[in-house]
Amino acid sequence: MSRPDVLFPLFAELETLPGIGPRTASALKSLGILRPKDFLFFLPQAVIDRGRKESIRDCVPPCVLTVEVEVGAHFVPRSKSQPYRVAVRDAQTEFFLVFFHARGDFLQKLLPTGQRRLISGKVEFFDGIAQMAHPDHVLRIEEAGDLPRFEPVYPAGAGVTQRQIAKAAAASVDRLAALQEWIDPHLLTREGWPALNAALLQAHAPQGPGDLAVTAPARQRLAYDELFAYQITLALARTALRSGKGSPSIGTGDLRRKVLDALPFSPTSAQRRAVAQIDSDMQSPERMNRLLQGDVGSGKTLVAFLALLIAVEAGGQGAMMAPTEILARQHHEGIVGYALAAGVHVALLTGRDKGRERAAKLADLASGKIDILLGTHAIFQKDVEFKDLRLAVVDEQHRFGVDQRMELGAKGAAADVLVMTATPIPRSLALASYGDMDISVLDEKPPGRKPIKTAMISDGRMEEVFGHLSRAVAEGKQAYWVCPLVEESEIVDLTSAQSRFASLRARLGEVVGLVHGQMPSAEKDAVMARFQLGEIKVLVATTVIEVGVDVPGATIMVIERAEIFGLSQLHQLRGRVGRGSAESTCLLLYQAPLGASALRRLKVIRDTEDGFAIAEEDLAIRGAGDLIGTAQSGLPSFRVADLERQSALMAIAQSDARRLLAEDPGLHSLRGKAVRHLLWLLDQDRAMQLIRVG
Ligand code: ADP
Ligand code: MG
Repeated sequence: MSRPDVLFPLFAELETLPGIGPRTASALKSLGILRPKDFLFFLPQAVIDRGRKESIRDCVPPCVLTVEVEVGAHFVPRSKSQPYRVAVRDAQTEFFLVFFHARGDFLQKLLPTGQRRLISGKVEFFDGIAQMAHPDHVLRIEEAGDLPRFEPVYPAGAGVTQRQIAKAAAASVDRLAALQEWIDPHLLTREGWPALNAALLQAHAPQGPGDLAVTAPARQRLAYDELFAYQITLALARTALRSGKGSPSIGTGDLRRKVLDALPFSPTSAQRRAVAQIDSDMQSPERMNRLLQGDVGSGKTLVAFLALLIAVEAGGQGAMMAPTEILARQHHEGIVGYALAAGVHVALLTGRDKGRERAAKLADLASGKIDILLGTHAIFQKDVEFKDLRLAVVDEQHRFGVDQRMELGAKGAAADVLVMTATPIPRSLALASYGDMDISVLDEKPPGRKPIKTAMISDGRMEEVFGHLSRAVAEGKQAYWVCPLVEESEIVDLTSAQSRFASLRARLGEVVGLVHGQMPSAEKDAVMARFQLGEIKVLVATTVIEVGVDVPGATIMVIERAEIFGLSQLHQLRGRVGRGSAESTCLLLYQAPLGASALRRLKVIRDTEDGFAIAEEDLAIRGAGDLIGTAQSGLPSFRVADLERQSALMAIAQSDARRLLAEDPGLHSLRGKAVRHLLWLLDQDRAMQLIRVG
């Protein structure tokens, strides 16, 4: 899709803007400004009130003041360490303008004795006397009208001044022709938003602090432009993905019925609802691209299993990928018995399968003998061929962004895709980072779960913890003990899992086991198996157990140096216990003294078990970017839009984008063409590629 002619002036070199030379242009690059168009959505973050005052007596220092003065005597410093001073008199009093490292001849010209000037700058006390150091503005009276009442302040960097930015931004806005509106007219009217050009003019020339608020109509409109452009991109990606499906998968329900009859429990209504949504997606001729979001322990595996059975019922195959070997094995163990009972052939493929064994599995897969393949990323390697893959499930894939999911989609060729995550994220962020997907939520836990008692304990009380643990072990209970690092490091003062393992062994004996990320996987599995069987009572672990591991008998979770973990990580870890009907405990050990923010975070975990509430708190404490990590989540950084405070706009943008593309998938209508302008202005390159393909 080639760039529309009307936008050319905005794609010129920066040096074509007034006041911008090569050096300033390169300074602007570090602000992300490469072309005049980049100034449009680069908005002031503050305003300075340059309202005229009679006298510096009208303000209480430190304060910013604009006042007309008569210039008096110049005082040239006797030594370099002293400032150059110029006496001035306003309507009521006399004071000094102060300059460090100043050139006298320059100041003589700027402030000739006996003449009147308008000055503006910060007034401060020095030795009890008010003075203004390095005024921001010194203007002749006839120029005074050039200084606006409210001066915008941009997020500037080194090598470029506010005035240069303001001037270049104004010139860039000026280059923007009146474009066809791309926002839905009803929305525009309902919200009372200005047209693009008017919004830009207002946003770059705020008439007071109120114009900077997220609720100011001009800023709302520009935020919406950003969100809408992004959601158009996601919607295009979604359309491209959905169009690739082989054939609809219509399940008979037979296998699912058999499995459900054999289960010792019945699905929660949230699980039923999710399966129904998946079922209907799989029946549709369009490819499914669905996210199953459910807190730890909400029973995502069962939903995935039932979905895989739909693929088999429809005469095809299913595959499920887990991020670790331990989890893949656990899926296999949890599923294989029920599958056999229903006559379904399930196999496990991991990086450990080699040679003849692996070849045999691949052959069975290609011939269709294997119905469901479970495993690690090994199952999507090049030489792995399915006879008729209908559904690809990706478990615990919260670390993958939009790009990786699109890759997976390409690999799964014609299959439906179900991605599962246990990281609850606030709705606004879900819409941002998973906007290309449809979302099912398991908002209900299986019945019979008891609340987990959570306590914060300082490491000074370690002896008590050991005592508690050995009594619990004597009663036959099982515990996890999580440590933050594997090797003792001199730089980072953390108790390593290995030395903790040694000290717990010394106290409790053979019942203590150790598992960490650097162990060979066969060894890891052996330890996990012994823990599952109850031979190991206390499992010392690094965070390899963070995701997904399910040992219902374990009721105690000890987390050492809990203050250095993230909130969602702590929540995940705690979710390893409280899975059976017995009382569970979680001990958050911390190194005293705790800082205020660490204290606040640990209290959040102590006081709630609701993953969504924890995610909201995490967002509030850390901000959107940190929560998922922009790079990892595929979450873009918006210039104007504020994901925390404008989440409602994100939802509107998503449904509007999807509606528009449903009517006009190639963006050929009048509004569609207008949207292309928007995509150009906001660098939605991926969208442009997708349009070109489509
Ligand atoms: P997660 O969503 O964290 O992956 P799992 O799928 O591992 O959760 O399920 C956690 C535990 O809950 C498992 O032991 C599973 O057998 C059990 N479970 C799942 N669904 C139900 C249900 N409807 N009723 C009772 N227990 C259930
Ligand atoms: Mg799981």
